[in-house]
Amino acid sequence: MKSLSHPNASARLATRAKSTLMRPLAQFAVLLAALASAPAYAWTDHDLITRQALEDVPLMQTSVAAEPAEHFLASDPAQLAKVLDGEEAWARANLPGYPVRPDALRFDEHVDRAHAVRRFLLAIRVNPEARLRLFVQDLPGITPISQSKLPWTDVTTRRSETIASELSFSAVPPGAYLTVIDVIGTASDEPDYGLDIGLWDDNSTGAGHAYGFGLQPFGNPKLDVSTQAPFHMGFFHESWLLDHAAPYLKRALPEYRVHLYQTLASYAFKSGHPYWGWRFSGWALHYVEDLTQPYHTRALPGVGSVHILFASALDLIGIHGPKTDAIQLVSNRHLELENYEYHRLHDAMLNHDQQDGLLAALANAKCDAPYGPWTNASLRNEVSLTASQKAEKIDAMLVSALPEQLVSDPRFVFTETGENVPNIAQIMQAAPPLPRRKFEAEMADVMCQVGAQTRRFVRSLPVYAPPPPQGES
Ligand SMILES: [Zn+2]
Repeated sequence: MKSLSHPNASARLATRAKSTLMRPLAQFAVLLAALASAPAYAWTDHDLITRQALEDVPLMQTSVAAEPAEHFLASDPAQLAKVLDGEEAWARANLPGYPVRPDALRFDEHVDRAHAVRRFLLAIRVNPEARLRLFVQDLPGITPISQSKLPWTDVTTRRSETIASELSFSAVPPGAYLTVIDVIGTASDEPDYGLDIGLWDDNSTGAGHAYGFGLQPFGNPKLDVSTQAPFHMGFFHESWLLDHAAPYLKRALPEYRVHLYQTLASYAFKSGHPYWGWRFSGWALHYVEDLTQPYHTRALPGVGSVHILFASALDLIGIHGPKTDAIQLVSNRHLELENYEYHRLHDAMLNHDQQDGLLAALANAKCDAPYGPWTNASLRNEVSLTASQKAEKIDAMLVSALPEQLVSDPRFVFTETGENVPNIAQIMQAAPPLPRRKFEAEMADVMCQVGAQTRRFVRSLPVYAPPPPQGES
């Protein structure tokens, strides 16, 4: 007893108790980190979503001239360097845990046109293989703007397993006039073409070693599409248990990307480069829309905490089945939801079916009402909060509507279906009427939120800002 009262003994006991408590939590954390290794696109083909959501927003049918990246970036490099310095200062002051940009990557105010694109890509810490070509994504059912096609390998840094390879792109010559909706719609899908791939220190890439982001906090650092997960997901509204067991889940950077691209858009608009103003706006919008995807805001929807701890405990003693099964099931459902969204929207657009429930929901302004102007807190406190509150429900509805093999059989691996990848929208049509209707209604509500946040964000752009009252400068 005496020794127990010794301060060091108490400290040791406290440490042991704490470590006993933390051990299962650490295992829990490992489970979660592995879970987030699922591919992380969020919505498949943001272009479809953005165009439908912005259909009735003013300015979308106006024209802008396509401007090559090097022209914009080298037109006033000193001012651009100042803007990026200001952005870096903002991020350091306002983003908790922000991984600072190494000074060596600072944009060079004396850069010439030949090196401007590369220096810019390094300064904003995206994949240096990005080419920033001028292009427009062709919409299903609509005549392409040009007969000159751009191979998908010209718009993405990826060479395999990419959604870009399924899509069609028109090349755009410098100076060609495009509608704003073409520019912002196309750009809103661009961050899924590899801009955020291979940027972490453990991704075995030159950029990863140079960029200062540190080790990838969650997702599989060896699987290229998974390396973009911490930029495109945000687990900001998890349980207390999860927050404490896996604090690294909070090391997600979508807010950094949104603010950076908002700042660049604002600079481009104000300095007379509207094409780049809209293109950067589309990039920022991508992350806003990503965080309306319920599976991008909750790590384990549909899996209770007790089950997770139990599965983790079993994994610890060598029984891995329950853990790997839980991971596989959530991963399958996550991808199936995105597959459903893509096929449903794609087919409705192809058939010009504006009565389609999801297309109509995207354009429906009824979900706009509760939201005020966009602020720096909106992504975390409203967009991802709303999506996270829907995660359990949508997961349960998917389970009750789809065939058991797709949603409840861990031996089925969605990513290994290869050429036979199922069309979930088609399969859903054969679901029993009641669960199908419930799922479709919930999905329409999710799309209504996506549309509302898309319009809200776009209306916050400086091109929509009202002029200052008279008498004020
Ligand atoms: Zn994404």
